[in-house]
Amino acid sequence: MPRQAKSAAAEVRSLREEIERHNYLYYVLDRPEIPDSEYDAKMRRLQKLEAAHPQLADPASPTQRVGAAPREGFGKVLHSVPMLSLDNAMSREETAEFEARIRRFLNHTGPIAYVAEHKLDGVAVELVYEKGLFVQGSTRGDGTTGEDVTANLRTIRSVPLRLRAARSRGLPERLEIRGEVILSKRGFAQVNAQQVERGEPEFMNPRNATGGSLRQLDSRVTASRPIEMFCHSSASLEGLHVSTHWEFLDLCRGLGLRTDRANRRCASLDEVFAYYEATEAKREELPHEIDGVVVKVDSLELQRRLGERDRSPRWAIAWKFKPRQAATRVLDIWPSVGRTGVITPIAALEPRNIGGVTVSNASLHNMDEVERKDIRIGDEVLVERAGDVIPYVLRSFPEKRTGKERKFHMPSACPRCGGRVRREPGEVYYRCLNVACPTKLEGGIKHFAGKHAMDIDGLGDKLVHQLVETGLVKDLAGLYHLELDALVDLERMGEKSARNLLARIERSKQTTLDRLLNGLSIRHVGEATAKALADHFGDIEKVLAAEPDDLLEIRDVGPEVARAIAEFFAEPRNRQQVRRLLDAGVRPAWQPRRGGKLAGKRFLFTGGLAAMSRHEAQARVERLGGAVATSVSKNVDFVVAGEEAGSKLKKARDLGIEMLSEQRFLDLVGDA
Ligand SMILES: [Zn+2]
Repeated sequence: MPRQAKSAAAEVRSLREEIERHNYLYYVLDRPEIPDSEYDAKMRRLQKLEAAHPQLADPASPTQRVGAAPREGFGKVLHSVPMLSLDNAMSREETAEFEARIRRFLNHTGPIAYVAEHKLDGVAVELVYEKGLFVQGSTRGDGTTGEDVTANLRTIRSVPLRLRAARSRGLPERLEIRGEVILSKRGFAQVNAQQVERGEPEFMNPRNATGGSLRQLDSRVTASRPIEMFCHSSASLEGLHVSTHWEFLDLCRGLGLRTDRANRRCASLDEVFAYYEATEAKREELPHEIDGVVVKVDSLELQRRLGERDRSPRWAIAWKFKPRQAATRVLDIWPSVGRTGVITPIAALEPRNIGGVTVSNASLHNMDEVERKDIRIGDEVLVERAGDVIPYVLRSFPEKRTGKERKFHMPSACPRCGGRVRREPGEVYYRCLNVACPTKLEGGIKHFAGKHAMDIDGLGDKLVHQLVETGLVKDLAGLYHLELDALVDLERMGEKSARNLLARIERSKQTTLDRLLNGLSIRHVGEATAKALADHFGDIEKVLAAEPDDLLEIRDVGPEVARAIAEFFAEPRNRQQVRRLLDAGVRPAWQPRRGGKLAGKRFLFTGGLAAMSRHEAQARVERLGGAVATSVSKNVDFVVAGEEAGSKLKKARDLGIEMLSEQRFLDLVGDA
C-alpha cells in the first residue's frame, strides 16, 4: 500500500472512532465535549477522505448515516421473539390491580420493585447487533413479522452502528434490542414546515410523522428528518448477563445505546404512583410527546416466571394518561388561504376546554381527510389535542346525524381574491392560482419580515392585513415606500409606533444575502438553502444570472430544489420584485467565510493540473470561500487552464473570462 493511502487509512480510522465517541457523548450521555461546528468539520473531513479513498469504505462508518438511494419496497423480518403489546391501565385502581394479579400469580408477599418509564408516543422498532455490529433493524409490524428498515434506522444518530464494549463486560455475542423511534415536538414542527415548503400534506402528529419518516423508501429523506431512538427492552442478549431490568438499562448505556433519562427504579407501587403524578404534571414541558407511563417488574427472574398471556407480558403495563379529547360540534367549515396559496379546510367548533385549553378551531388538513373521515357541517365530532400540535378532528359520529348536516365543498374561486382554485394532479392541496392573491402577499410579507429573513419586528397579522387591504403595500418592496402620514391613518396605529416601525423597516435594508433570499418565499428555499445559495454566489446579481446548471453545483441542492429556484427567477415578476427591493435601498451583503479571500469567486478547471488533483484544487478554493463550477458560463470568474485544456477554454475565451495558469492559481490560493 502506498504511504499516502496508509496514512489516510489511519486518519479515517481515528476520525470514525472520534465521531462515534462524540455521538455517544452527545446522544447517549447528553454531555457533548465539542461544539457542533467542530463535529461538523470532523465529519466533512471524513467524507472527503472516504471519497478520495473508496477502498476504505465501511458500512459502519458514521458517514453512512446519510441514507441510500430509493428502494423498491421493504423486505420482511421475522422477529425471533414476538414483539408483544402491553396491557393498558387507565387509573390508579387498575394499576394496583396489576400488582395484585402479579402477587396472586406468583403467590408472592414480599416487596416488588419496578422500573417506571415514560411511554413514548412513537414507532416501535427492533435493532439486531451481531458481535457489536448493527446488522438489521425492523418495525414491529404485526408483532411477528415486521418490515426491514435497516437503511433508514442507520440514518438515526442515536442508533450506534457499532456498539461500545461495556465496562469490563465486553460485547454481547448477539443483541436484539427494542425501543421507540420518535420525533421531538420541535422536530415535528420542523418536519411539517418542510412538508409545507414542498407543498406536501402536513403530518397529523409526531407519531404519524415518525412512521412516515421511518417507512421512506428513500432513506435520504429519513436522514433529513430529526428522528431519535430510545431503547427500552431486549428480545435476546447473548454472551452477557444481567439480573434486573434496571441493570439492563445501565448496560445499554454502557454499550452506547440511548435510553430515556426519565426512567426511574421504584422500590414499591407507591413510588410508581408518585412517578406517574410527577410525570403527568410536567407532561407539557417535555421535549417530546408521551401518552402515559410504562411500569415493568424490575427482576428479570420474576419477569421470566410471570411470562405472558394473550400476547402481552404479565410483568408490564402501560398506565395511560387521560386522553385529551372532547366531543363537540362543527359549526362551520371554511377555506383558509395560506402563504403559498394552499387552501386548507378549517372547522369552526363549538368551544370546548380540552386539557386546560379552549379549542374552537381545528384543521381538517385537506379534502381527502374531510372525505375519508366524512366530516360535515353540523356533525358531532371527537377532537383531540396533543401537546403543542394544532387540535385535530379524530372522527365524526354519522349515527348522530339529524339530516340537517351539510357537506363542505372546496370553492372553485379563492375566498379572498376570487382567483381560480385548482388541485394539480397528484397533489393533495387545492391552491389559489392568482399570483397577486392578497393572502399570498400577506403571507409573503409576514415571511419576509420574519426573524430569519429581514427581521422587521412589529409587522403583525392585523397590520399586514390592513397594509394589503388598503393598498398601501402592493409588493414586498412597497414596505420601503411607506410614509408616516399613511401609517398613522391606519386603525390602532399611533404616531410613535408608526415612527418605530418605519425605523425598523429602514434598518432592515442593511441585511445579508441569505436573509434576503430566505425572505423571498421561494419554494423549497428555507434558511439552510438560502445560506448555501449565498455561500455559493456571494452576490444577488450572480443569483439573478444563475443558470439551472449552476444551481446543481451547490452542495445539498438537488434537482427539485434547483428547478424551483430556477423557475422562481425565470418569472419576470419575481425578478422585478428583487430589482425594486434593491432600488428601494436593500443592501444584501455577504460576509465571506472565515479566511474567505475568494468568497463569491467561481473557478472553472479545465485540463489536468501538475501539482495536485482536481479534488484537492477544489478543496482549496472552497476553504477560501470560493466555489467551483463544472461548466462555462458568464458566472465564472476564473478559468484555470491546465495541460491539454479542452473545448471549455475556447468558450471561456469567447465569454471574456479571466484565465489563470496553474502557477498563478497556486499563488492565489497560497497554502490554503
Ligand atoms: Zn386568492
